[in-house]
Amino acid sequence: MKKLIIEVRMNETARKDANPNVPYTPDEIVADAIACAEAGAAIVHFHGRDAAGNETSDPEVYRQIVSGIREKSDVLIHPTLGQFFGGAGPDERMAHIKALAEMGLAPDMAPLDTGSNNIDMFDWQAGEFVGDGAVYVNTGANLRYMAGRMREWGIRPQLCSWSIPNLRLAGAFLAAGLVPAPAFVTLVLSGERGIMGHPATEAGLRAYLDNMPDEAMEWSVLCGGREIFDLLPMILREGGHVSAGLGDTTYASLGQPTNADVVRAIAAMAREHGREVATPEEARMMLGKQLQPA
Ligand code: ZN
Repeated sequence: MKKLIIEVRMNETARKDANPNVPYTPDEIVADAIACAEAGAAIVHFHGRDAAGNETSDPEVYRQIVSGIREKSDVLIHPTLGQFFGGAGPDERMAHIKALAEMGLAPDMAPLDTGSNNIDMFDWQAGEFVGDGAVYVNTGANLRYMAGRMREWGIRPQLCSWSIPNLRLAGAFLAAGLVPAPAFVTLVLSGERGIMGHPATEAGLRAYLDNMPDEAMEWSVLCGGREIFDLLPMILREGGHVSAGLGDTTYASLGQPTNADVVRAIAAMAREHGREVATPEEARMMLGKQLQPA
């Protein structure tokens, strides 16, 4: 059976108050990334943070992280684009990625969320919205432009779908030759409060799988705001991959785990279900020739 690519979503917007093992500083992110790679992660995804934990797109922060990881590991590196609520243009959103490419530190992947989405949170017990929500804008023109820049820099887009229309746009990108085959798509499921993705149920995932626009797609599942464990048997059975970590939720069922603990638990369950875990080198092969080792 196809090997399982484990991507660890290290921090996103999670805070240390919820789990002190959420990494903030470049040193913490590098150490955590290495530990996750040793535990079975083939891809590390992170958001640059300052010491107080606030998100930053400072190229120097990203330089320290990418160079620190590359010194010790061949794990695939996938930083965020960030800045998505500020009305930032595509060049601004990719400024730190461009800076990395110019330093000879182009990451292996960068995300392209293939569509604009409302980001609304709802408390079902209280029957109330949490906050005012936001709109995450990704116009088709900006996405095409960003895909072009990534191709120039030798970076593979990770196409993130929050819904079937987003997945259809990912299929169109593949058909138009804007991204290389096989496309690597992440299917977003979201927990109870985050009502912007498909529900984190087998039916929510099944809807994506019944609507895959192209066979030349490797797909991974992301479960925002919720642990991924109860969906793992289906993901493993259907030949998908996994993108999970403390950036999604505290993973309290494991106590107060590190990201590496989460990766280890996923890897163990995969082996129980007959899926071996892909090394970074194997993940590069599965995702296509464009992903050469750095
Ligand atoms: Zn992210």
